[in-house]
Amino acid sequence: MQLTVASGKGGVGKSSITASLSFLLSQDINLVSLDADADTPNLEILLKVERWEGKKPFEGERIAVIDPSKCTGCGICAKHCPYECIYPEDNHYKVSEILCEGCNVCSIVCPEKGTINFKPTIPGFVKWGKTSYGFPLVTAELLPGRPNSGKLVFEAKKVARKFNHDLLLIDAAAGIGCSVIASINGSDYVLVVVEPTEVSLTDAQRLLKITEHFKVKTFAVINKFNINEEYTKQLEKFFSERNIKVVGRIPYDKSAVEALIKGEPAVKAYPDSPFSNAVKKLTENLKQIF
Ligand code: SF4
Ligand code: SF4
Repeated sequence: MQLTVASGKGGVGKSSITASLSFLLSQDINLVSLDADADTPNLEILLKVERWEGKKPFEGERIAVIDPSKCTGCGICAKHCPYECIYPEDNHYKVSEILCEGCNVCSIVCPEKGTINFKPTIPGFVKWGKTSYGFPLVTAELLPGRPNSGKLVFEAKKVARKFNHDLLLIDAAAGIGCSVIASINGSDYVLVVVEPTEVSLTDAQRLLKITEHFKVKTFAVINKFNINEEYTKQLEKFFSERNIKVVGRIPYDKSAVEALIKGEPAVKAYPDSPFSNAVKKLTENLKQIF
């Protein structure tokens, strides 16, 4: 079974909720957690992975390399590169490894055949280890400026599925990028985290287009519901009109922020706080759905 926690907008508390959900669900369910937020993975901090047990490089697209001994410095490649990633250096030209998309245009236009070649890149890693709370965490980690976070998440899911588990709990990146699509694809359930603001709702609507596309059973949780109770009612109406059950309402609570500062799931750091009590209720509601 695969549950993906997603949010159209960043900063709505998705990872805090996922860390606490992982902690609580792992007490009854054999789970593996996957941090699929490849640009900024941070579940490892909240779930405290003290030692990684494995790390696998992710082989990405090829990028161009100019042989300086053959380059005449004509600059034709730089003029044609659609990503503006070729620049002059000394008497020849060079490719920015961070910007190159491997599109091949430069090697086609270069008059000096054999000057531009291609090499594979390692844009990221999949790593795995045991959390301090006893269950495994798999993390997809992208290096700066590299594309293909979707493929990387796909690889991370393959690694996660090798663990003996009944539930794969995925913390997706915020937004609707390719890594989010890779996270949601194959999910049995998606839990959409929203807060009562217009921006959050607008972004959630975009996210719902993906869950509808994949026909994934979707639920919602409203975080910080008490910062705008009037708008919370609008959110509830919005979800009800789409047959999306709101399975949790979590209040704004300073203890959730303090737990982040401590680097622990809030339900572990402050088990009796309003945030934790609401997440416990959310967990029970989800368990009834599974
Ligand atoms: S087109 Fe070829 S020869 Fe000209 S600058 Fe680029 S790599 Fe060098
Ligand atoms: S492969 Fe494409 S993106 Fe990379 S340097 Fe050549 S033209 Fe630019």
